[in-house]
Amino acid sequence: MSTLFDLPPRPAVPILGEAATFPVNRIFCVGRNYAAHAAEMGFAATKDASFYFTKTPSAICHSGTTIAYPLGTANCHYEMELVVAIGAPAFRIAEADALSVVLGYACGLDMTRRDLQNAARDQGRPWDLGKDFEQAAVIAPITRVEAFGAMEAQRIQLSQNSAVKQDAVLSDMIFNVADLIADLSKFYHLAPGDLLYTGTPAGVGPIAVGDRLVGTIEGLTPIELAIGPAE
Ligand code: MN
Repeated sequence: MSTLFDLPPRPAVPILGEAATFPVNRIFCVGRNYAAHAAEMGFAATKDASFYFTKTPSAICHSGTTIAYPLGTANCHYEMELVVAIGAPAFRIAEADALSVVLGYACGLDMTRRDLQNAARDQGRPWDLGKDFEQAAVIAPITRVEAFGAMEAQRIQLSQNSAVKQDAVLSDMIFNVADLIADLSKFYHLAPGDLLYTGTPAGVGPIAVGDRLVGTIEGLTPIELAIGPAE
């Protein structure tokens, strides 16, 4: 069976020290998962329920890229995040078993057109224009969970032109990785290739042309992104 035209290849993320890459199936993202970030966005932190949005897999952008300043925004923000790479199916999985489906972790940037997101939010409209756009899901190489070790209070930081802007620990997450996988698996048949961006700490802010962003999480490969002129 032939197709009318060829599509771009499915994006894939390098795995540290391995030849085979991680093909990306779906991209899930968590909103307001650090209390201090929820507060800076004007919301109280609650543990009632986590909430999610998605990005198109074609939004994947590899660490080390220089991107053009994103289209249609005058207030694009960085959001430094831990990304979970799912390596096995999970459907209605118990929290106690949820970490068994994690293949590895990576540093990620949930790039956000904040002006468009806030305008949509204030009108009760979907967030898609603010969150799901080209090169908006930046990701560094994945580290296998066996090499990363236990999820504890690893430091997560983002620097913009060498100034530290975000600085927290992974244990600050309101919903931890097991909570998120167990919850999301009630709504989706999670599958190998799915990525989960787990939310950002406080300190988000605007990017500018000429910026260099460097994000780090203890035990993982750092993420880097440079911002070039708008098209
Ligand atoms: Mn985010």
